[in-house]
Amino acid sequence: MGILEKIYDRSPIFIQNLMVTISGYQKNRSRYGKIYYRYLHFLKDFDKLDLEDKFEYQNKELISFIRYVYENSKFYKNLYKGIDIESIKCVGDLKKLPIVDKEMIRANINDINTISHKGAIEGHTGGTTGKSLVVLMTPEDFMKRMASLDHFKSRVGFENLKMKRATFNGKHIVPPKQNKKIFWRYNAACKQMIYSSFHITEENMKYYVNSLNKYKPESIDGFFTSICDVASYIERHNIKLEFQPIAIFPTSETLTKSGRELLERVFKSKVYNQYASSEGAPFVTECEKQVLHIELDSGVFEHFEKGNDEVLITSFTTHGTPLIRYRIGDSMTFDEKSKTCDCGVRSSIIKEIQGRKLDFLYTVDGAKINAGNIANLFKNMPNALVRAQVIQNKIDEINILLEVDKRLYKAEYDNLLKDEFLHKFGDKTRIVIEHLDEISREKSGKFRLIKNNIN
Ligand SMILES: [Zn+2]
Repeated sequence: MGILEKIYDRSPIFIQNLMVTISGYQKNRSRYGKIYYRYLHFLKDFDKLDLEDKFEYQNKELISFIRYVYENSKFYKNLYKGIDIESIKCVGDLKKLPIVDKEMIRANINDINTISHKGAIEGHTGGTTGKSLVVLMTPEDFMKRMASLDHFKSRVGFENLKMKRATFNGKHIVPPKQNKKIFWRYNAACKQMIYSSFHITEENMKYYVNSLNKYKPESIDGFFTSICDVASYIERHNIKLEFQPIAIFPTSETLTKSGRELLERVFKSKVYNQYASSEGAPFVTECEKQVLHIELDSGVFEHFEKGNDEVLITSFTTHGTPLIRYRIGDSMTFDEKSKTCDCGVRSSIIKEIQGRKLDFLYTVDGAKINAGNIANLFKNMPNALVRAQVIQNKIDEINILLEVDKRLYKAEYDNLLKDEFLHKFGDKTRIVIEHLDEISREKSGKFRLIKNNIN
């Protein structure tokens, strides 16, 4: 633990708010420089372009990015030996280049990087496979990425830094010994109330809701499951909200249909999804019509192979740790037909983001059941269920952990749930239900609906 954290932990809460704010102002300096504002301006103009002009821009960016990487990254120079780099002139030519995966990046990180740690912004990638990776971003790329995210929000009416946001994340803002029921801190530099994901329990929930009602955020962002937990509590206890956010922007988790519906019902506000990994992948964002658009200025998405929805990404904002045809581990269904959207922004459209491979469970026969389908199995008991987690350690056994509202939960629900799961997974699967007072979170503060420990 650093000296600053020690001071933080021992300070009264108003000093902690001040420290969070000072750190916020420091971060803003690397986020909101000249390049940020210039790129924000560029994106507004880019939105108005025709699809052909956007593709032309994308090809140009691709050519210059690949040249830069070839000249500056030892790893890629070796990897592309014998390939005529000059012959890569458009997205279609990318097929001439080999695919890169996470293990290759991890094992060769020093040869891949084109910049040193000094002055770079680090991106940490997680954890679903246990493999963690630190990527380096140039300050220019980092600012462009910030501009892209803020532009996405501004399209649906939320202006970052000008409007109030509530963020649910995995920052350690509450000292371990704190007794007061104050699980949030204010970062005045970003008009942002940060809520701790680690302390979201049934018991503490009323304090969170009171705080939200007092703060009246204009947007809510951060961990999807944390926001869902709060929404579920508000609905179950029939609490009146004294604010209506403009938008909800969940991050870092695969969204479920039932969760989205819950958030939109409770907060009376639309949910806008985004795909933006910490490795620095190109962006996919949802527009005001709730259609997923590929942000063509940010990079390229390809499918891994025909008939497989797994994507390869090439990202133009990864000059530090370049990612070209990188197998990121996420799956998406492309909408090959529609190129227009009622929102007016023309781009390639994504039908669905399925998320990480590990967001699946297996049937005995090896078929995959994805997170969305699993979430659906719980929908018949929305008001009695606080939280659930489904774990698979063996191919023929599914463990369901339940945290329930004891006032509303009926004993027969266990059997109902078992039936739903058997129906989906087949009779050869053993379904084991266990009730817990509290299901624990990941170290990152995120909550996982599914844990697939097979392999
Ligand atoms: Zn649209």
